[in-house]
Amino acid sequence: MKQHDAMYIDGSWRPAEGGGTIEVVNPADGQVIATVPAGSAADVDAAVRAARAALPGWAATPPRERAARLAALRDQLVARADEIAATVTAELGAPLAFSKAVHAGAPIAVCGSYAELAGTYAFEEKIGNSTVLHEPVGVVGAITPWNYPLHQVVAKVAPALAAGCTIVLKPAEDTPLVAQLFAECVDAAGIPAGVFNLVTGLGPVAGQALAEHDGIDLVSFTGSTAVGRKIGALAGAAVKRVALELGGKSANVILPSADLAKAVGVGVANVMANSGQTCSAWTRMLVHRDRYDEAVELAAAAAAKYVPGEKIGPLVNAGQQARVRGYIERGVAEGARLVAGGPEAPLEAGYYVRPTVFADVTPEMTIAQEEIFGPVLSVLRYEDEDDAARIANGTVYGLAGAVWAGDEAEAVAFARRLETGQVDINGGRFNPLAPFGGYKQSGVGRELGRHGLAEYLQTKSLQF
Ligand code: NAD
Repeated sequence: MKQHDAMYIDGSWRPAEGGGTIEVVNPADGQVIATVPAGSAADVDAAVRAARAALPGWAATPPRERAARLAALRDQLVARADEIAATVTAELGAPLAFSKAVHAGAPIAVCGSYAELAGTYAFEEKIGNSTVLHEPVGVVGAITPWNYPLHQVVAKVAPALAAGCTIVLKPAEDTPLVAQLFAECVDAAGIPAGVFNLVTGLGPVAGQALAEHDGIDLVSFTGSTAVGRKIGALAGAAVKRVALELGGKSANVILPSADLAKAVGVGVANVMANSGQTCSAWTRMLVHRDRYDEAVELAAAAAAKYVPGEKIGPLVNAGQQARVRGYIERGVAEGARLVAGGPEAPLEAGYYVRPTVFADVTPEMTIAQEEIFGPVLSVLRYEDEDDAARIANGTVYGLAGAVWAGDEAEAVAFARRLETGQVDINGGRFNPLAPFGGYKQSGVGRELGRHGLAEYLQTKSLQF
């Protein structure tokens, strides 16, 4: 596995100022596969200075030229897609086919969409007797998690660069290798020195130093609600812009008229994808009482097909494995009925968890309220549509969800009642141009498409 014992700052790989290192582990077998530098506050400071120095030049670069650089970056990601997939499989444990399709595929789609948008977006508009200029916010500090390690990087870097911002990235400590590979792609795409900078390191050290740095104009964070709350507080105190993409506990609402087998099958696949480590996963399946037993049987049978080590990968690290197994034990202790999986580890080596389905889950149970971030599905029973809406909206989160009905208009009418940022109707399809982000405690701001671009812009109006 290719690795750098240096930081990508100001267009070159330079040694870290702090001497610490981080071991990167393959979660499929627990073996150390690489070592990367643990950045210090001094490394963050050097990166922020480089980004600030590069800002005037990049902000003044015509959008068409920025678009051309983003297109070159997309081409780099395409050329190195197999390497990206292999790297994500090594450090995250995802099955290779999933890494190719999603972990390499989604960043290519998103980077391509911003290459297009940078060239076509109206960075100037007329409103009555005013001309409104949409100008870059400035220097961005981006902090990303490990679960979709390249997608979450590109979902911040591409719109920031399209907007004319410069950026310092602090990727998750579990998955720094694909971030290093991405820095190589940025370099090869001819993006000027200092426009993109990478500091690998630990959250409470490098992440915190970045969030606190007064040379940063916007902090864009994706991760847990606990850390997001801290970052939001820091940004508030400094009166800095902030974007937060946080956790979820999304509902998959199957209305009585739906194709039950399809809705349950797709629903289980959605929860098991990426070993359940997806913030937008539909972890609560809501089924009408008349079809409940049939749905539970279908869900248990579907989950049993996700053989650990074959169709489903491990969790990212031992801590996450222990956390998820603890939630499964809690579900049993609170009276939910296990119909697939359970807390025992399925394999001796690696951080695997058995694909698990709980029936007889009630809305107040811990497993129906808290984000588990593992391959665990809770199936809940509802009486009527009002009851389903109340249960679906009854958590602190509001990131995603799904509605299934025989008739699309019926599903859409129900989707309007959901307090959530995204709803898939009868399955849905990924749209890299559609805004993604949370209602309630799932976050602040939106990513992707022109809504994601707007996060990195501030407006100036000129009156005539
Ligand atoms: P995490 O919050 O622990 O870490 C995310 C990032 O923040 C990492 O880079 C980490 O190093 C950094 N960090 C940790 N402590 C920090 C601190 N004190 N100051 C600054 N940075 C700090 O989350 P995680 O465990 O890596 O990821 C899992 C969580 O992320 C889940 O809750 C999941 O729902 C959420 N998530 C949300 C989205 C979304 O788009 N809404 C996407 C993916 C993951």
